[in-house]
Amino acid sequence: MRFIHTIAVILLLTALLVAVVHAQEDLRLVVVSYVGWEQLQQLASWGLQIINYQGNVLAALCSDEQIERLHRSGFQVQVLDTKPDTDLKHYYLAYPTPGDDLAQWPPVEALYPYGRGVYIVKATIAQVESLARKGIQVAKLPTAVVLSRVLPDAYQPAGKLAYRRNIQAMVDAVSPTLLIHHVCKLQDDDCLEYCNERGTRYSYAAAKLNEAAQYIYQQYKALGMRVTYEPFLHNSHVMTNVVAELPGMGPASDHIYILCAHYDSTSNDPYHIAPGADDNASGSAAVLEAARVLSRYSYSHTLRFVHFAGEEQGLLGSAHYAAQAAQRGDVIAGVINLDMIAYESVPPNDHIVEIHAGMNPASIALADVFMNQIAKYSLLLRPEKITNGAIGRSDHASFWNQGYPAILGIEDFQDFNPYYHSTNDTLSRLQTQMMVEFSKACVATLAELASVLPRPPPKSMPRDYFMSNW
Ligand SMILES: [Zn+2]
Repeated sequence: MRFIHTIAVILLLTALLVAVVHAQEDLRLVVVSYVGWEQLQQLASWGLQIINYQGNVLAALCSDEQIERLHRSGFQVQVLDTKPDTDLKHYYLAYPTPGDDLAQWPPVEALYPYGRGVYIVKATIAQVESLARKGIQVAKLPTAVVLSRVLPDAYQPAGKLAYRRNIQAMVDAVSPTLLIHHVCKLQDDDCLEYCNERGTRYSYAAAKLNEAAQYIYQQYKALGMRVTYEPFLHNSHVMTNVVAELPGMGPASDHIYILCAHYDSTSNDPYHIAPGADDNASGSAAVLEAARVLSRYSYSHTLRFVHFAGEEQGLLGSAHYAAQAAQRGDVIAGVINLDMIAYESVPPNDHIVEIHAGMNPASIALADVFMNQIAKYSLLLRPEKITNGAIGRSDHASFWNQGYPAILGIEDFQDFNPYYHSTNDTLSRLQTQMMVEFSKACVATLAELASVLPRPPPKSMPRDYFMSNW
């Protein structure tokens, strides 16, 4: 009896193992077209292993049965790979620059058109690195995405947000002088004269990247804020994120709002000169200046200011940070990512900027608050909200991949910075007013969402802040 029992258990286990191995072997890498957030949710409820979604197209790992069901229900399905590695080791998302000639791209194993301005690329590590060196943004294709971590109570309807005099005072405190100073310091080679436009923050140039990280770290230290270096490893290179925090004072202090930007840069000569003034000293400066103003007050919820490295190599710093946050169970109620916020050609000088929200209703609500505050505090920006067709080519996408609400603030794609990823991306070619207005919009949005507390009165600036800064 006992013998038969053992045999039965062994047979059962073998059957289970075969089933598991079989199921894994059978998953195909597919691209499926869909319409709207509800349909995306419906497809997730069918058990599709969705690994990424764009405006109206998603990538997933599917069994043959699931593909059958999709066909039967009228979905358009394209099979990219019938036997992908389980961890999709060689798959990346690639984002060409507008006007890029694909024929000029370094060779890759396979290239598939995907969302608006996005390609799925199959490539070796060496091929990916040559893509990145050409200035093409690449991000590892994730193996899973959490579709929704919507916090339904986090947002009031944007239209109902009132004008507040204390927030106006904060908006007015944003300093154009300090913003420009930060861009100078970040684009500089520290060995040369002030604002020389000859530095680099290339993520593989470790010493230079660390100088920039230290500069950012020092700013938060001087404000008396809690700040840490968070290093991570990529292909045996150490890269470092810088994370500062204003802990919330209310009962829901575990709700976190993040303002972030990547501080690394690249160019056609990245080890020597990659000033990256627009991309992305501008966003980094805005995070620093918004933090300076916001740090003079207290809030119900927690505010974090995060500066990422390795963005140009495929959103490395933010992917690391967002994955760790999800693992810790951080309740991130909203992320504002700034990337390239200081260029427009003159004329038209129309102040058009793009707010990429994607399809998640919580991200859309966040974008609505951001745009509401731009109008309420009469800021000189003309924001265009992008849901269907939003791009994932910056660090907000790492938060989307973990299911967190996030938006990207960026200059007008129709008026693209011609100095992008070149040694000429310098402060002297920027329209700094846009960066000032973006900083103000972030202050107004975060003060509102994190619920700035009316008492105690604002703390004064530490006496040595300006001294330590210059
Ligand atoms: Zn960038």
